Amino acid sequence: MKNTSVKFIFITGGVVSSLGKGLASASLGALLQARGYSIKLRKLDPYLNIDPGTMSPYQHGECYVTDDGAETDLDLGHYERFTGVPAKKSDNITTGKIYSNVIAKERKGDYLGATIQVIPHVTDSIKEYILSDINHEDFVLCEIGGTVGDIESLPFIEAIRQLGNELGLTQTCFLHVTLLPFIKTAGELKTKPTQHSVKELQGMGIQPDILLCRTEDAIPEEQKSKIALFCNLKTERVIEALDSSSIYEVPISYHKQGLDYQVCKHFQLDVLKKPNLRRWNKINKIQKSSEGNVNIGIVGKYTSMIDAYKSLIEAINHGGLANNIKISVKWIDSEELENQNQNFNNLFKDINGIIVPGGFGQRGSEGKINAINFARTKKIPFLGICFGMQMAVIEFARNVLDLKDASSSEFGKTKQPLVGLLTEWQTDKGVEKRNKDSNLGGTMRLGAYDCKLSENSLIKSIYKKKIISERHRHRYEVNNKYILDFKKNGLMFSGMSPDNSLPEIFEIPSHPWFIGVQFHPELKSKPFDPHPLFSSFIEASLKKSRLL
Ligand code: GLN
Repeated sequence: MKNTSVKFIFITGGVVSSLGKGLASASLGALLQARGYSIKLRKLDPYLNIDPGTMSPYQHGECYVTDDGAETDLDLGHYERFTGVPAKKSDNITTGKIYSNVIAKERKGDYLGATIQVIPHVTDSIKEYILSDINHEDFVLCEIGGTVGDIESLPFIEAIRQLGNELGLTQTCFLHVTLLPFIKTAGELKTKPTQHSVKELQGMGIQPDILLCRTEDAIPEEQKSKIALFCNLKTERVIEALDSSSIYEVPISYHKQGLDYQVCKHFQLDVLKKPNLRRWNKINKIQKSSEGNVNIGIVGKYTSMIDAYKSLIEAINHGGLANNIKISVKWIDSEELENQNQNFNNLFKDINGIIVPGGFGQRGSEGKINAINFARTKKIPFLGICFGMQMAVIEFARNVLDLKDASSSEFGKTKQPLVGLLTEWQTDKGVEKRNKDSNLGGTMRLGAYDCKLSENSLIKSIYKKKIISERHRHRYEVNNKYILDFKKNGLMFSGMSPDNSLPEIFEIPSHPWFIGVQFHPELKSKPFDPHPLFSSFIEASLKKSRLL
């Protein structure tokens, strides 16, 4: 690729992790869009996994799935939610992926006998990735995972340094996100960690063009000048990034501090044209004016790690935006619901809607089934997502169809596999095949698939479409042998794969709102375009709250 007009912004982080680099990158992307530019956002992750697909959500947060079937870092979810640009497989690169490509090439003999080294072979491969699959975008924003100074991220830093050199100032900009800690006893924000982290970057040959300083308090002018002096940049390039009460305030707040202005100035673009921030102002206005409260209970296993459910929480909030209502999420640990004799009325006293989200493994599954039983019999709005849908099918089979052994083959051998391992399915590229011994990485039914909605169903009235496309990430599937039995007993499969072989959505017409979906609708919801399923679920929960 030799696109001489695309501009690259490399986003690095210093001082500590969890600085919100992903949000900062997504917000800058949104601001550039608001100035009329087209953008692409990418994440370069320094870990050795090929992708986060096999990583524990406890450690790494949710795994975000793209339309083209990649299991990626959760930051790609922020990117997509903030910009509406669908993330792609090529937008998340890891050290593991880079090395496996380099080694595969070496085995093929592509390096013609050369000694394979980090520089130039690994760095060349990173640069190739950064420059690949760019189709007329004005900007490509590349966030480098980790913190400057980590051993693991060195090849990435070196690769972007080389790109800065090769493409020059007119095509590259280095944005460094840091932290200014507030020391109570001294009563001031400290600039030293930022100075050190910039020195570290400079030592690797990178002079940041813009600093984005995370801070709890406004940065006094003299502190900004001090940072500028020590870090070798102009004071106006030291941007204050104050903590915000909502992530959707971030683009506006960074704009007010001049982030997009400085980026445009760096690239010598028109800075006089004002960005169109209507979309963001509208969201913030709704958020501020929302009245009332709906309590949504999420019954899951990783409830101590909210990043494990990042997209889900956002999608629920979007449903709140669509209904002008504030949402309180209550986390309910499924393992604590395993004992059926507990007082569920008490446990779910204030809950207006219940979600059982995606999940893996048997632990906690009986608690989820008990919660679903409660939602079904007490007519509480219920949304089952992927594993949550599978557990709802099992609950109904056990308690309504009287199939007492109903279970999922995910939990081991069972006489009544209501949910079974999916061994064969149709993709755009042909038939995919799996068996129980297949590798765990990248072997699920992944990415976007079409689904046909039934006439006269609640789901069709929600989507207002006949065919929808949603993203999947699962290995097991509801057994279509039982479809008629379910129907006779009041549970209807109202969404099927186009060839009618895979049950994708069910609903219970006699219940006010009880829907299970085999896919992950939360991945496609956006604050300015709330997902219809979440808008409708929150609406139903709101009605329920008014009945209480
Ligand atoms: N463990 C289930 C499966 O693989 C559900 C996965 C999920 O909820 N994403 O089918």
